[in-house]
Parts: sequence; C-alpha cells; structure tokens
Amino acid sequence: MEAPTANEKDPVVRGRFAPTPSGRMHLGNVFSALVAWLSARSAGGEIVLRIEDLDPRAQHPGVADTLMRDLEWLGLTWDEGPFWQTERDEIYGEAIERLDAMGLTYPCFCTRADLRAASAPHASDGALVYTGTCRGLTEAEVARRALTRPPSTRLRVPEADDPAGTIEFVDLAYGPQCEVLARDCGDFLIRRSDGVVAYQLAVVVDDALMGVNQVVRGHDLLPSCARQTYIARLMGWQPPEYGHVPLLVAPDGRRLAKRDRDLDLGALCERGVSAARIIGALAALVGLIEPGLDATPDDLVPLFSWDKIAAHREDIVIDDTFLS
Ligand code: GLU
Repeated sequence: MEAPTANEKDPVVRGRFAPTPSGRMHLGNVFSALVAWLSARSAGGEIVLRIEDLDPRAQHPGVADTLMRDLEWLGLTWDEGPFWQTERDEIYGEAIERLDAMGLTYPCFCTRADLRAASAPHASDGALVYTGTCRGLTEAEVARRALTRPPSTRLRVPEADDPAGTIEFVDLAYGPQCEVLARDCGDFLIRRSDGVVAYQLAVVVDDALMGVNQVVRGHDLLPSCARQTYIARLMGWQPPEYGHVPLLVAPDGRRLAKRDRDLDLGALCERGVSAARIIGALAALVGLIEPGLDATPDDLVPLFSWDKIAAHREDIVIDDTFLS
C-alpha cells in the first residue's frame, strides 16, 4: 500500500471530485466541484474523479452516469477516473488490517440509542463525542456480544493530553485550524456494523493511493480533517492540503440538500438554464466575476484565487430568484 510520493520540487496539484451518487447534483455540489476544478487548473494541476458509492443508499443505477454527464455539461472535466469505491473493498480491508495490527482498533456494539445516551455532544457543532463505552471490553465479552449483534469497528484516538491527538493545519480558505481528537470526536468508526467501510477511512485511503494532494469540498466537512489527517499519519502518508468552500443555504439557513429538487441540475435543465449561466452565477457568489454574466470554467481560470474564497467564508444564501 505505497502512496505515490509527490515530487517535492515541483509538486503537481492533484485535486478531486468525490461525489456521492445519492441523487442529482444541487448547486452546492456544483459550487464545490467548480472551486476544486479551478484550484487545480489554475495551478496547472489535475483532477481525479471518484464515485463515492459505498453506502447502499448511494447505489442507484444510473445516478452516477447522470452525475458524470452533468459534470461534462458544466465543463468540469477530469483527467483520471472514474474510480468506484464499491470496487475497492479489498484495498480498504488491507488498510483496516494495518490499523488492527497496530492495536488501534476495537469492536463496538453500541446502538444509535446507546450512542445518544452515552455521548457528550460536542459544544461547537453538536456532533457526538464517543466516550469509549466499548474500549475496554474483554475478549470473552466481545465473543458473547457478537452472538447477538455484529459489531462496528472503531479507531482509538490518543488521550487528550497526548500531542499526537492534536491536529493542526491551515485551510486554504478558513486559515489555521486545531482539533483535539479525544475532545472533539473520540474514538471513531472506520467500519459500520453492516460491514460497509466508513467514509473517514475510505476517503483517506483513496486520496493517498490516487495521489490526491489537495482536497476541496464543502465547509461541513471541515471537522473531518482531523480524523482524516490522523489516519493518514498512522498509515505513513502525507495528508493532503485542505481547502473548504462556504455552504450554499436556503433562506431559512438550511443547507441545500439533494431533496431541494428545485435547485438540482435536473430542475435547472428543465427550466432551460444554461451551463454558462449556472457557472457564471456561482462564480459571482465569491466575486470571481460580476453578477449577471455567463462564464465557462475555462474563462474563470485566470480569475481564481483562494483569497477570493477566503473573503466569502460565511454561508451563502440562495433564494428562488437565483438564476431566475
Ligand atoms: N462524497 C462526499 C460528498 O459527496 C464528499 C467527500 C469528500 O469530499 O471528502 O459530499
């Protein structure tokens, strides 16, 4: 499992699109993909396409194909892929075995209800912090419990006072970040009880083995960076550079989701909105161009900079008049 090493003198930026094919892309997905593409292309870099179809709910036949056609229609091209996560189970299994061999994993039998009852919500974002209920189970207890419930697998994080558990990095848009794994998430899942590999593990393995050195995605995933950096370091891989982009939200503050059908690409195409209109409107949100102009991704390459994204770090409200 050797990750390709970047040429230190002249590292080529390798970004990625990593869509989950659970539905048609909405404007927020397109916005993240556009910034990932511009960041790589403006640095003379490349883009890898990976379809994140691990979750059975993201295995709708045809959705991934539509997603790829949509990306092409928008002018968001890629250089390598598509890679399909469902074809990489063996690779994830090897990574988990390596973490097992380090003595860092354990089976967890907690149900959702157990987790809610026993975990402390993390102050800043309400996410649950695992308090380690199954950390110290004896082998006999594991065997007994496994008779009635298949366990999930958790990865141990260092104690709060161990510097290895404090993860610091500088996000391209949001600046210096610091998370303490024991305080902010606790031991976390790397495989679910239904056997499906957890996103946190798969994404690190894939990014490393696909040579991705720049990860650009929605701001909601910023808290995942510490877990992902921790796994990468354990595996002996250089973590990628991270750049998060502001979320597009509905007027009531809700994040745009695939269920907001009126702003997904299917509905926009039906309304006859052109690709250049969509790209132009998204680019104007972060000041790359004036509002009201059409643009292709290629037009935007010379105008892109992370400073412009960093100047628009708050959530961006999209209402019914957007693109109308
Ligand atoms: N597959 C995730 C999504 O579609 C993105 C994961 C990532 O960029 O790390 O939201």
